Amino acid sequence: MSTSPEWVIAALEERKQASLFRQTVIMEGAQVPGIEIDKKDYIAFCSNDYLGLANHPKLIQAMHESAQTYGVGSGASHLVNGHNREHQNLEEELAQWLGYERVILFSTGYMANLGVLAAFAGKDNGVVQDKLNHASLIDGAQLAGAKMRRYLHSDLDSAEKVLTRFTQNQSKSSILATDGIFSMDGDMAPLAGLASLCKENAALLMVDDAHGLACCGDTGKGSMELEGLTAEDVPLLIGTFGKAFGTSGAFVACSHDFADYLTQFSRPYIYTTAMSPAIVGATRASLAIIKSEEGLHLRQKLRANIAFFRRAVSELPITLCDSETAIQPILIGDSQLALDVSNRLKQKGIWCTAIRPPTVPKGSARLRITLSAQHDFEQISYLVNSLATALATRK
Ligand SMILES: *Cc1c(COP(=O)(O)O)cnc(C)c1O
Repeated sequence: MSTSPEWVIAALEERKQASLFRQTVIMEGAQVPGIEIDKKDYIAFCSNDYLGLANHPKLIQAMHESAQTYGVGSGASHLVNGHNREHQNLEEELAQWLGYERVILFSTGYMANLGVLAAFAGKDNGVVQDKLNHASLIDGAQLAGAKMRRYLHSDLDSAEKVLTRFTQNQSKSSILATDGIFSMDGDMAPLAGLASLCKENAALLMVDDAHGLACCGDTGKGSMELEGLTAEDVPLLIGTFGKAFGTSGAFVACSHDFADYLTQFSRPYIYTTAMSPAIVGATRASLAIIKSEEGLHLRQKLRANIAFFRRAVSELPITLCDSETAIQPILIGDSQLALDVSNRLKQKGIWCTAIRPPTVPKGSARLRITLSAQHDFEQISYLVNSLATALATRK
């Protein structure tokens, strides 16, 4: 007999009725293309481990070594005594690599976005955001208690209208926040245009490049590299380690003053335990790979896989999104239909979780296919053939 309050049961039931109920599945083993769930083998096409670093021997080794020297837990927040040599080294390496004065580590990307907006936005200024920004940017503006307006997806005219209206009679600079690569669509923000817009309006441009860093650009510096932008154009850059870096945690790259400012005023930075030094060690190994010849090869392999996938799909009656990145969504629309297609793929040994509202806008449920440098052409061909049948038999 359930003793849960009725409103909890009702909310769960409502989600189930709308085909929006979510639950975890248990994956045996590491995040690799060949996974095992419920005693069955699948090829996975939905992880964010785009370069295949999550299970890389060099990262595993580095994590061991770092744990030997620094232990597993940092034991305190950065400002008490949880910030050790390993954290400092990673911050300096990232700052130098990306051409910023400073980098500050956060425990997750979600918290980095909350942390920046909570510190830089408030009742005296507004936050302007792309309609398709990641949930953590939206939540950050709410935590800051800031006014928030959203502009049409990647639409510079709409962004300008919203921003200029905001900028009048405001004592602090507005923040314009955008994903670099949009997490559910895989397309790129018009960063160069947004950077000019922000300069004209004395607004601060904040770019969350969770899906661009390590993957995009010849040297892996992400969407800023693709658009030829520097630290001057993007005063607040957010990167995460849970995607292509293959570990977990996040960072903000910014100026010296901004880093000092975050250190004073960013509650999600101040009131939380610093990242595990062992994970920081693994992340340093990851960065070393990303910067090296091996990283270049992984990016080339990923790019070849993306091109192969798009070419194969173009011969089928399937519409792809306008994405050149590892994120290649297939829009389905209806949530139940997206679940059905995902289940049909499962029967064929392909794991691709259906993404439904509220993660994506209503009526835009999809299969968010992601490719990795670790997939091979044979696996991708198999995916495309299976997609063709799974989509043809829908309804
Ligand atoms: C995944 C993601 C985050 C959150 O990062 P975590 O480290 O997983 O908390 C933030 N922004 C974007 C665009 C993301 O895709």
